[in-house]
Amino acid sequence: MPANILVVEDEPALQELLALNITQAGHTPMRAISAEHAQELLRNALPDLILLDWMLPKMSGIDFARQLKSDSATKQIPIIMLTARGGEFDKVRCLEVGADDYVTKPFSPKELNARIKAVLRRIAPQMTDDPIEIQGLHLDPVTRRVKSNNKVVDLGPTEFRLLHYFMGNPERVHSRSQLLDKVWGHHVFVEDRTVDVHIRRLRNALSISGHQDLIQTVRGSGYRLSVITA
Ligand code: CA
Repeated sequence: MPANILVVEDEPALQELLALNITQAGHTPMRAISAEHAQELLRNALPDLILLDWMLPKMSGIDFARQLKSDSATKQIPIIMLTARGGEFDKVRCLEVGADDYVTKPFSPKELNARIKAVLRRIAPQMTDDPIEIQGLHLDPVTRRVKSNNKVVDLGPTEFRLLHYFMGNPERVHSRSQLLDKVWGHHVFVEDRTVDVHIRRLRNALSISGHQDLIQTVRGSGYRLSVITA
């Protein structure tokens, strides 16, 4: 599942490079040239991660990070600061305002992608392309295949995304609206009941290898993937 990554960078050449990098890593870039511009974009859609330059024309990246982390609508979005400064004091400031990581300029595309991947792996493993295995059920995001004991489990695209999300966030209860948001996307209008339909299909598909009980209904709350029998 690709992540939407907002790049806030005022230098056009660097912004271009960052966007290209993100695209090549399989994610989708959104682009802003200032904190003010980014604020406008955030009113329409929330990204999964923000790459934020420290030195911006008006509001600085560090002030913008502080603002994002104090706003309940945006505080969950991980931030990687881009900074030309390498001093210990500044690293501390990056982390103090709530940034999740920082990258010092100049950086290699490889290093940046590794940082992005590390942050996503921590907060949204389903957005990386790492294979996941739980109780013999093996999901590979690159080949989009799910296998159990080397037998392919046949899943539709929605069931695949749903399972990927569950496997990336095991043991946590997800409400129907959270699942709609994370698996279907922010702007899709579908009924909560749609989730139940796809959960049923997912369980059916998993029943072939005996993994259907991994997907548990939590009465009044939603669903979770758990290896602990309910
Ligand atoms: Ca700059």
